[in-house]
Amino acid sequence: MPVKIGIPRALAYYAYYPFWKEFFQKLGLETVISQVTTKQILDDGVKEAVTDACVPIKVFHGHVRDLKDKADYIFVPRLVSINKEKTVTFCPKFLGLPNMIKTSMTGLPPLIDIRVDLKKGKLELFKICYRLGRKFDVGLWTIVKAYSSGMKAQAKYQQLLNEQYSPIEAVNILDGEDSLLANSTDPKLKFAVLGFPYTIYDKFVNVDIINKLRKLGIKVLTAEMVPPKILLQQAKKVPKNLFWNFSNQVLRAALYYLDNSKVDGIIHVTAFGCGPDAMVDKMIELEAKQRGKIPFMSITIDEHTGEAGLMTRIEAFVDMLALRRERS
Ligand code: SF4
Repeated sequence: MPVKIGIPRALAYYAYYPFWKEFFQKLGLETVISQVTTKQILDDGVKEAVTDACVPIKVFHGHVRDLKDKADYIFVPRLVSINKEKTVTFCPKFLGLPNMIKTSMTGLPPLIDIRVDLKKGKLELFKICYRLGRKFDVGLWTIVKAYSSGMKAQAKYQQLLNEQYSPIEAVNILDGEDSLLANSTDPKLKFAVLGFPYTIYDKFVNVDIINKLRKLGIKVLTAEMVPPKILLQQAKKVPKNLFWNFSNQVLRAALYYLDNSKVDGIIHVTAFGCGPDAMVDKMIELEAKQRGKIPFMSITIDEHTGEAGLMTRIEAFVDMLALRRERS
């Protein structure tokens, strides 16, 4: 029986899952993903996590709980940096994630809590993979092949995002399932819906905002649909980089959509209790006001977010922008 590696369907899952899944499988290990977020998972997470944690962290705890009896190891990496931008790191909750899990939860299988700090050098990711492979007694050649397959899977995934598939759709396609673009081909409006991937693509957490907008005839564009090269170019428009990886992506995507007039409106989905989000939200609002062309709305989610209240605000925003379009 192959060793089972549990991967929580939360946080970094929405950005780097194709690489890790492919890598572990090519090492000869089995990957087990926690089920999609449900009320039970959220409730478990709320019980396990420290009370002042943001909702994505609580949800992560719930997903780890879901994997407790399904896997031999649970993958909880300590993400420090994934690119060469020297001042950019992940938010403190990501940095301390393995410690949070170990301190708050008991009875878990061992965690794979590797530190991912790619600023250390070009070969750092391979070195991490090598150490992981050796942990499971895998030979060098197999590790090299698994690493290379992982990189290819991640590149294919990025390509699909650039073609405006959402991460969920892209993962489905990589897994060989048919997935058509759910965006309307003749949308009445186009919106950029921005936020951390784990708040934007976890349908339970954000009460399925993307599909709700699509049902209203809105084409939804997200930060992940802007190619990384173009995102990086937007960095020149702000005097200073933010410290946090995902926050930079959101702000840069907002600047891109604001300056290219590609959308009729921008919705920023923020997590209650998130320090980085509070700052990014204000920055996007100011940038949108300065340009004065594209309306901006902010939505804050937490574990008590109700569908009715959220939909009322979204529908009002859509109606207002549809009227604006008609008049212009
Ligand atoms: S960036 Fe914000 S939402 Fe994400 S884990 Fe950190 S505090 Fe939570």
